[in-house]
Formats: sequence, structure tokens, C-alpha cells
Amino acid sequence: MIFSKHNIFSKIKDSENFFIVNLLTGNADIVSPNDAQKIIEIRNSKPVADANFMAELVEKGYWVDEKEEAKLYRNKYLDFVDSRNDDEIQLFFVTNYSCNFACSYCYQDEYAPSQGVLTTHIIDKFFLYIQNEFAGRKKYITVFGGEPLLNSPKQKELISYLISKANAANLDVSFVTNGYSLVDYVDILKHGSVREIQITLDGTASVHNSRRFLKGGAGTFDKICEGVDACIANNITVNLRMVADKENIENLPELARFAIDKGWTTSPFFKTQIGRNYELHHCQSAPDKLFSRVSLYEELFALIQQHPYIVEFYKPAYSISKFLSENGNLPDPLFDSCPACKSEWAFDYTGHIYSCTATVGKADESLGTFYPEVSRKDDMINAWENRDVMSIAECSTCNMQLACGGGCGSIAKNRTGNVCSSDCRPVTELLELGFASYFEK
Ligand code: SF4
Ligand code: SF4
Repeated sequence: MIFSKHNIFSKIKDSENFFIVNLLTGNADIVSPNDAQKIIEIRNSKPVADANFMAELVEKGYWVDEKEEAKLYRNKYLDFVDSRNDDEIQLFFVTNYSCNFACSYCYQDEYAPSQGVLTTHIIDKFFLYIQNEFAGRKKYITVFGGEPLLNSPKQKELISYLISKANAANLDVSFVTNGYSLVDYVDILKHGSVREIQITLDGTASVHNSRRFLKGGAGTFDKICEGVDACIANNITVNLRMVADKENIENLPELARFAIDKGWTTSPFFKTQIGRNYELHHCQSAPDKLFSRVSLYEELFALIQQHPYIVEFYKPAYSISKFLSENGNLPDPLFDSCPACKSEWAFDYTGHIYSCTATVGKADESLGTFYPEVSRKDDMINAWENRDVMSIAECSTCNMQLACGGGCGSIAKNRTGNVCSSDCRPVTELLELGFASYFEK
């Protein structure tokens, strides 16, 4: 018998207690300091003369027969691969790379403006491709940019056309927008089966306007808020995203208060996310303002302790902690956290196909074309399709693999040149915070 290779065991932040989690068997426990000492001894291969305790560890799969564990792992992996084939596919479509904003941290400024413009013929070719390629699969479209909802008659015509094609194909659509012209688009959006509109708001007026301004410098906060109000009033779900770094995180309590006072947080058509501003594509001018994954969550933990109402606006996931607290059980083992070329693809108006939003628009990441001709770079596609914790050497021996899933393939590729390499998530540290937030307090 061995201490399971999938146990994640550590001390809960600001507590004497510990936690142990095992995603393979689906068990999680809070452990007293006394029992934690026994686990430390067991982990170090020292015998523990407490038969009841050992029996409980066996029952919960923390102390296992190695061969049985390998068998269970194989079976769960096969279940995972089976269920992945039924997953809904998210198909991003970039209508243009141009934008009316000049955000201080925009990564897309590195892309040379592409040739050509979107036409209804290209939209037809996109729908033809996805209906052939993903026939029989559940799918939906997310319209992306640049800024897809630019306030020009031509753009409105194209977005209306795209929505009518999606309706004819019985597909939902989502939009990722800076939100500036939303008010002008609500009547068009109402004709579609719109799943959600993702809008970025980086803080209250002065903070947001110092980061996300129009080309020319004018503020954008008030118009975005009008757009959020208009969507909610029309039962269109808003997913409000704050892009956080050290320059705006202190404004989170104020933004949360603003959203609460607006009545947004009690609407069933409102949800939020916090995205980390990070160096995915090229060096930012001030990298020291960026959070690491752990430091962002440590900051959120501290802010929520000081301003508990923040959770009405945003509840951090802290790896699988929030899921466990809300569902009373662990999620299924995560053999792969990167949906690229499995349940996510990206397409742009130039006719190119990419793995996802992290690679879209990068010429050397193109995986083929849907227009003017259909073509596929099968070697590159296979590398993305085969990426999971079984195929990444570092992950196969990592005790956190079933919570981490190997991270992001694009970040891994930027780091090592190889898609099939690791992008480590600080799972243990996040669970230390998560158990403190959702179970100890
Ligand atoms: S490469 Fe990264 S951004 Fe792209 S789908 Fe995978 S995890 Fe997401
Ligand atoms: S990416 Fe890193 S932390 Fe995640 S499973 Fe692989 S080795 Fe472990």
C-alpha cells in the first residue's frame, strides 16, 4: 500500500488545521493537527499504530494499493475521453482586429493590421465549414475581436447577418466586447439566441477610464454602464470581466459596491469574472505591476476579509474549493484543462483557423484555412488534440495533475516551444486559501 499519488495535502491558511484532497477517488477532508501529524508520518513511510485511522485512509482512497489505483486512473481517464467527445464546442469568430479603444495594456497592438475585410461571403464560408467539420456536435459561436461591435452601419449589417446565419443553424451566440457601443446594438442582439455578452470593466469611473479609453483618450465608463443596464433590461446575460493587476485591484471593493448599488448583482442576467493581466503575448511595459497566479488570489483573499461584501459581486474559485463548497462534492478529475482543438477553436475573417483565443491572429499559429480554400495543418492540430496530463511528461508524475489539468497549452508553448509541455497551476496554494475561505470561516 502507498500514500496515493493523487493526494494533495497541506495546511489551511491562517488555521491550525490541514486539508487532504484526492480528485481520483473524489474525497476531501479537513484534518486536525493531530491527524495531520499522522499523515505526515505515513507520507514519510513511518508506520502509524492507529488501525481506525488507517482504515479511514484506505476507505477514502488516501492510502491505496498501487495497482488498484493505476486501474482506477485508467478507467477514469477513459470516462473523461468519452465524455469529452460529447462536450459542447465553443467556436470563436473574429470579425476584425481593429478596435476603437487604445487600452493601456492591450496585447493585440502587436499584430500587424491584417489585409481585407469581413464579407457576407466569408461568413457563409465559416458556417459551411463548421457545419461540415463539427456536424453532430453541440456547438455555439462566440464573436470576438478586436472590437466586434463597432458602431458603423457596415459592421451592424455584418453582425445582423451573422446572427441570422446562427439562427438558421440553430446556434447560440456570445459576444466579447469592450461594451462601448452596446446600447446601439441591443436591438440587433435581441434577434439572436444570445448566451452572454462579455464586457470588460476595470474599476469604477476614474480607474477604468485611466486604463480603457478611446483612441484619442476619452473615457468609456459611462457608456459601458449604459450598455450593461440595457442588456440586463432586455434579459441579455452580461458577464462582467475585470482585468486585474496591481494598479487597479485596490479598486475592487469600490467596483463591487458600485455593481451592488446598481442592482446588477441580484439580476439573474449578471455574472462576473476576474482575469489576470499577464504576459501572454509580449512584454508589458511594466511587468512588475502584474500579479502571479498565487499573488492575485492572495490579494483577493485579503480584500474579501476586509470587505466581505465583495463576494456578492465575485467569488474566487481557489482551484476546486468553490465548487466543493457549492456542490458538496469534488468535480470530476481534470485530465486536461486546455480546450484548444478539442472543445474550442478560433477563426478569423481572413479565413484562418487557430486553436483558441490565445493564438488567434498569430500567423505562425494558423492551423489551416476555411476560406478561400479549406486546408488543415494536421501535425499541428494533432499536437493540440493530444495534449493532456497523460501526454505531458512533467504532469504524469505530479500529485496535482487532476486538479490542474496541465494548464494552458499556449503559455506552455511560449515557454518551451512545445504545446505538449506544462503550465503549472499553484493548486496547493489556492486550496490553502480556498479551504480557509469556504470551510474554516
Ligand atoms: S491554449 Fe490556453 S487560452 Fe487557449 S484554450 Fe488552451 S488554456 Fe485556453
Ligand atoms: S502543469 Fe505542472 S502543476 Fe499542472 S499537472 Fe502538470 S506538472 Fe502538475
